Amino acid sequence: MSKEYLIEMVEVDCPVCEKTHKIEKRKRETEGIVKGDVVCYEEIFYMCPTTNEEDNEFVTAALMDDNLLRARDAYRHCKGLLTSYEISEIRKHYGVTQNEFSNLLGWGDITVTRYESKTIQDETYDNLMRMVKENPLFALQSLEKHKAKFLEEKFQKIRRKIVERVEESGIHYLKMQEISSVYLNYDKESDLNGYKLLDLEKLASVIGYFAHFVNNLYKVKLMKLLWYADVIHYKRHGKAMVGLVYKHMTYGALPLAYDEIIHLPTIKVEEEIIYDDISYKIVPNAEVNVSKFTLEELNILELICSKFKDYRSREIVDYMHKEKAYRETEPFNIISYELSKELNELS
Ligand SMILES: [Zn+2]
Repeated sequence: MSKEYLIEMVEVDCPVCEKTHKIEKRKRETEGIVKGDVVCYEEIFYMCPTTNEEDNEFVTAALMDDNLLRARDAYRHCKGLLTSYEISEIRKHYGVTQNEFSNLLGWGDITVTRYESKTIQDETYDNLMRMVKENPLFALQSLEKHKAKFLEEKFQKIRRKIVERVEESGIHYLKMQEISSVYLNYDKESDLNGYKLLDLEKLASVIGYFAHFVNNLYKVKLMKLLWYADVIHYKRHGKAMVGLVYKHMTYGALPLAYDEIIHLPTIKVEEEIIYDDISYKIVPNAEVNVSKFTLEELNILELICSKFKDYRSREIVDYMHKEKAYRETEPFNIISYELSKELNELS
């Protein structure tokens, strides 16, 4: 029906051929019905590679639950509701358990547990969780309002963690504001942003992905990887992946606001001294949530990682210097996405 992707090989008891062996874990798009609506979601299944029959596929009970959750999350996504994963990310951001998160919001003990496993939340509940996500001060107020639900020691511990988040969010907020103000001039889709308005959340996910899968990720190298992600996506789908605007600089393509984008929440930057110079190494700060990407995006990110994983900054700069789009753009000018379609060999 649709494209299938191999995710990994896993050793399991195979009910198809009744042996224990390496079988394929695969993913594909499919349709399901949730609350009467047809939703399109990605299902995961196993396939016995040694059986040639039509029915060499199977799912375990755990996978079936997982697929159901994906179907419900697809529904939530369509309705603009937080997915179960996003809900768990919010509470983990504040270091609280499902019970504690429920109590913090003044709800029954198991409400959040149900939202993370099966029940779909209604809009009022969704809005409250969203406010906690976006505004740590709101989280703090809500905690204080429901103080009676916590033991004193627990209350203080959670409060300290939220206060930390309040302080941090001030810095991230400032950086986001700086990036947004630089991109004010690119608030229309054009050849300069690859017909995509800058998506900061996607950008943070893409950098987080690279931080996980690329060795020695320094600033210069990261900027080139972002360019490849954007232009390959543009070449294939007529739209950039994150919508950054790149200039021709000495060390290759450099996005506007390059200094600010490495301070997005999912990224951590470590300073290293190499030959008396300070280098900024990008390291992951959170688990990569691969489900935030489309299959097309993942395919491009994988391609870029496998090509440049072990490149040193110098090597990737040299590589980019040979790109037509770079050579044909005047220094300090913005590099056209259309021109970037003629890439050397990737894509
Ligand atoms: Zn088998």
